[in-house]
Amino acid sequence: MVHIDTSTERYPKLHGTPASRGIALGKLTFLKRRQKPDIRHTVEDTAAEIQRFEDARARAITQLGNLYEASLDKLGEQNAVLFQIHQLMLDDPDYVSQIHEFITTEKMNAEYAVDVVAKRFSEMFKAMDNDYMQGRAADVIDVSRRVTDILLSSHGTPLKSTSYTTYGDEPLILATDDLAPSETVSLDKEKVTGIVTSHGSTRSHTVIFARTMGLPAVISLGDALSPDLEGHTAIVDGGAGILIIDPDESTIRAYRERKRTEDALRARLEQFRGKETRTLSGRRVRLYANIGSAYDLDVVKSSDAEGIGLFRSEYIYLSSDDFPTEETQFKIYKEVLESMEGRQVVIRTLDIGADKTAPYFTLKPEENPAMGMRAVRICITRPEIFKTQLRALFRASVYGNLAIMFPMITSVDELKACLAMCEEVRRSLDNEGIPYNEGLEIGIMIETPAAALISDELAPLVDFFSIGTNDLTQFTLAVDRQNAEVGRFLNPYHHAVRRLIEMTVKNAHNAGIWVGICGELAADEGFTHELIEMGVDELSVAPSSVLILRARISTLG
Ligand code: PEP
Ligand code: MG
Repeated sequence: MVHIDTSTERYPKLHGTPASRGIALGKLTFLKRRQKPDIRHTVEDTAAEIQRFEDARARAITQLGNLYEASLDKLGEQNAVLFQIHQLMLDDPDYVSQIHEFITTEKMNAEYAVDVVAKRFSEMFKAMDNDYMQGRAADVIDVSRRVTDILLSSHGTPLKSTSYTTYGDEPLILATDDLAPSETVSLDKEKVTGIVTSHGSTRSHTVIFARTMGLPAVISLGDALSPDLEGHTAIVDGGAGILIIDPDESTIRAYRERKRTEDALRARLEQFRGKETRTLSGRRVRLYANIGSAYDLDVVKSSDAEGIGLFRSEYIYLSSDDFPTEETQFKIYKEVLESMEGRQVVIRTLDIGADKTAPYFTLKPEENPAMGMRAVRICITRPEIFKTQLRALFRASVYGNLAIMFPMITSVDELKACLAMCEEVRRSLDNEGIPYNEGLEIGIMIETPAAALISDELAPLVDFFSIGTNDLTQFTLAVDRQNAEVGRFLNPYHHAVRRLIEMTVKNAHNAGIWVGICGELAADEGFTHELIEMGVDELSVAPSSVLILRARISTLG
């Protein structure tokens, strides 16, 4: 229970996880779920009960089809498709047969059988060592609740399983433990202007939907988000991840002002959605997104990125207990490529080592791991690991527009060793009759001063360069990017770094290849004009920066 002690604190601030940017001011209203009636009872005519379940399942599938159609405008095809996935869940043979079996063998009523099986599936998803599958736990509960609601309403009990109190015309901030995707999309946006939850994950569809719908949201506020707060005035600051209860007048005024500014900025940015990125003079710059895993795909798509400029494939290895197999990797790369529907996806090969280690690599402890056995150095010395990844990549290449990129290159010989391994993989796939895209682009990261300085020698061997300004800065200035003590010396604007970038861009263009930036500097609005002047062809940035940069570039020569 939250005790609001106004004598010691003007208003309490609850801290949670930022989930969807923006500011909302309104009355807190708690989502009330229908108390589940004690629904277990014994049925005699099990065949009739199975039919009752089948009728409800069919109706739920129809409702989800309608929800899909209704969500297309609000959420766009790539998000609304979740409701088609929900339809498939209701068609899952395992799910359906387990419900039938409980009805037949235990003589359970359909509502109870659905509930038991939904919990089983949800526990199974939650136990998986994979964020994406864990997120499916909420989906199976959501679709099962829909079926139970239909079953209960056919008995004459209320149809709607949720409700919330309204306060005249006052805008509302909906508070709940967690919100299902179908509940999020069905919210009345005229009334509900923000969402706060005590639990939830930033990877959930609820969060993605909230972002797409422009609803500010803060999640994981914990038990402090108590129903005692019902009816209190509150401010949600989605970007900062805070909920302010009973703000005073001056706080309200300050937030109203900020909201006006942010709303105006967002409206301006929305005009750039779906457009190409061009400078004032009409020069095209490709604006791509950086991602860590396939779970970020929804966010990339709603960001309106024109492709993926850096897929950090090492996260597949880091989230695994053992070397990921060729098949595991193939499926992930295929999923990413297919979901990007022909837009380019640059997948960086394994950049393990330094701060990113997995125990099964059994790397020896090193004095200076950032300059030690990492990235291509591991790939060259342990070719079996590298070849497994390359085979998975080449095999996946027929499912989209793939480009492969090697990290931490410092010499022509290293690059030649990587290219030779690609050739070996191509030959073995040829022998096995496995197709791959023969024209896929192969490039390298320029993230060591050595690579920048010999970029004229490297360029003729590849199709593109992508400058990794994070490592390029650390190695040029001899400042450890992991060490906060020396953080103030890590200056990406240093002349030495600029000159290396400039040199790399010139050498790329002299050799007729494209050059991009995928380090943090690519998203630095204050530096965009210099990068554009240097002639950079592509910028790959966090998805949240895509529209901001497109707007910025549109103002530059
Ligand atoms: C870089 O070094 O700039 C880069 C993009 O790679 P990472 O940050 O993953 O090392
Ligand atoms: Mg790097």
